[in-house]
Formats: sequence, C-alpha cells, structure tokens
Amino acid sequence: MLRLTGTDPASGRTLRVTVHSGRISAIEPLPVATDAILSAGLIDLQLNGYGGHDVNATGSTADTVADLARALWVRGVTTFCPTLITAPPAAILAGLRTIRAARDADPLLAHAIPSVHVEGPHLSTADGARGAHDPAWIRPADTAEYDSWQRASDGLVGIVTVAPESPGALNYLRHVAASGAVPAIGHSAATPEQVRDAVDAGARLSTHLGNGVPQQLPRHPNLLWEQLADDRLTAGLIADGHHLPAATLRSMARAKGFGRTVLVSDAVALAGAAPGEYHTPVGGAVTLHPDGRLTLAGSDLLAGAARALPECVGYAAGPGGYGLAEALRSATARPAALLGLPDRGVLRVGAIADLAVFTDPTLATAAATVVGGKLVYVNGSAPFDVDPADDARDR
Ligand SMILES: [Zn+2]
Repeated sequence: MLRLTGTDPASGRTLRVTVHSGRISAIEPLPVATDAILSAGLIDLQLNGYGGHDVNATGSTADTVADLARALWVRGVTTFCPTLITAPPAAILAGLRTIRAARDADPLLAHAIPSVHVEGPHLSTADGARGAHDPAWIRPADTAEYDSWQRASDGLVGIVTVAPESPGALNYLRHVAASGAVPAIGHSAATPEQVRDAVDAGARLSTHLGNGVPQQLPRHPNLLWEQLADDRLTAGLIADGHHLPAATLRSMARAKGFGRTVLVSDAVALAGAAPGEYHTPVGGAVTLHPDGRLTLAGSDLLAGAARALPECVGYAAGPGGYGLAEALRSATARPAALLGLPDRGVLRVGAIADLAVFTDPTLATAAATVVGGKLVYVNGSAPFDVDPADDARDR
C-alpha cells in the first residue's frame, strides 16, 4: 500500500490518495494546505526523446527506450507514445521492433508505452510544411507499409500522422481508422477541402496544430481555420512557449475549446539537457538556451522542442490561459480518452494508479511518481508526502 498527498487543482482541496494492487483504492480530503500538486500522471502523445535518449537514433536499443521512460518518470510523465519520424522503411521497422522488445522485457514499460506514434512518412514535401522531416524519405500514403508496421510491432502503432494531400491519403486514413489506431493530420499544406475530406475519412487529431504548416497562408480560408472549426478534430498543441506564441496558443485553445485540446511536448533528445552548444545528427550545430528554446546555432530558427510535458502544462496554465486544472486535463484525461484508455489520466477510485506529485504549481519538479501502482521515483529533497509504509519500491 502507498499513500500520496497533495493539492488537487480541479477541486482546490488537499487529497490523500491510497494505492493498492496497482489501482487507486481510496481518495480522502485532508484539512491541511500544501504547495505540492497531486495529479494523475502526465500522458505525452508525441515525444521523440528526452534526457539524451532518442528513439529515432540509429542504434537505439531496448535500453534506450527503458532509459527514456525512466527519465520521463523523474518528470512526472507516466505514459508516452514514442514518436518515430520520417525515415527509410527499414529504419521505421527497426524503431518499432526496438520499442516492442523494450515492452516485452518489462511489464511496467508495456504499461507506460501503450502505443507508438508514427509521424510520417506520408507528409507534405513543401518547405515549412515538412518541418525537419527528410524530403528524401517522404513518400505517398501506403496502407501496405502501415500494415508492415503493425506486423513488426504486434499492433503497437496507435497514432499515425499523415498529410491530407498525400496521394492516397483518404484511403489510408480510412484504413488506419478501421484498424483502431488514431488517424492524425499534420505537416501539411492542404486546402480546407482536403482537410474536410480527411476528417470525413476518419482523421481525429491535428498534430501540433500551428506548426508544420507553410510560412505563408491565405488569411482565409486556410487549413488552420478549417481544423480549428471542426469539432471532430482534437488539437495537439506544443505549449513549450516557443512553438506557439502565447496569444496563438490561447486563441487556438479558446477557438477549439480547451476540452478539444491535448498538450504534447514533441520533445527531442536534448530536452532535459543543460543549456549550451550541441551537435545533433539532424540539426547540426544547435544552441539550447536557458529558457528552453532550441535553435540552430547563430540563428533564431527553432531546431526542435526541448521542454518536458510538465513545463508545457505550466506554460499553458499561465500564458496559455488554461489555468492549472484545465491544463492538467489536457495532459492527462484528454490524451487518455483519445487513446481509448479511460482507466488512466484520472484521480478516481478504481482507476489505474498512475500518479505524480509536483513540488509546486509550476510542475517544474516532480516529488514522486507512481506508475501502475509502483513508486518509480522519489525526489529525496522535496518537501513531500509519501507514506513510507510501502513495499512498492521493489520493482
Ligand atoms: Zn512534427
């Protein structure tokens, strides 16, 4: 048995949550105040890497995936979709097999990684829209390739991002939807009509809306308004404070409705590193600034996202206009619902015990993290509240 205490931002009350046999067995209000924030563990639907661990790197292994998960647990992220980007067919298959092997080796990893997000390779080749995806490996939508991913990973692909204008995209979106995965659209220069057709074909998620679009668009109509207006689409938003200016994030969230947004980090492996100069295989020389902005060296051009999801939640809560409770929902219950995982992402008796306690409302530092009922991280220096009478530390 394990007990965690902290303030629940949704109710403003201090709660004590008891964990038993992997589930939340009790939730009790306590008549005390605390700065610590108690939440369901955060769920990141789009993440390439963190803490130096990169699922897209050549030579990544099952240990890379396991190390990545542990690095995220330190931040209070309990569930994530490792995101494989545009690459040669064999490289995507290798990435999927690696993640599958990591899950097969550890039931806790299998729990923490319910599915993989494949972002690409059926994207726009236009500059701006394609972002950093290698145009040499962008190719038309291909259901046979999708089927090969599912075979290689034992059905692990849960989100696929495709450009609506990719040749064959509509048939592809229908195929992905019929298989049970979430069809997403992004890295696109589509017309509004192509966006509508894609949603009619089953698209449910806008991948990092507002990023991966052409630098110049007609003021209206365009693919941004179309996606904002269509309630069938949930908007994924990178709330790192750099990919979307505060007013853009706030306006998009209001236009969609906070309830139709999910926050993602889209973090790269350098996220979590100390500020400084680095060299990356894709970006070359890059600078990680103290405020978390990652740019090409000597330029202001973004070279990826470098903030963990809890920092994005903190940014959305403040400058993004969400408030903390709403921002947390968009990083817990909402992504869980999109993935079809109603038993996680919520503080509810009977739900799976994926929990995070943060030292304060900025969520910058996790005090404790529980995954599947197991205490996987404790910040020894944090003023925090885990009942030590537990045997859950042994994994
Ligand atoms: Zn992207």
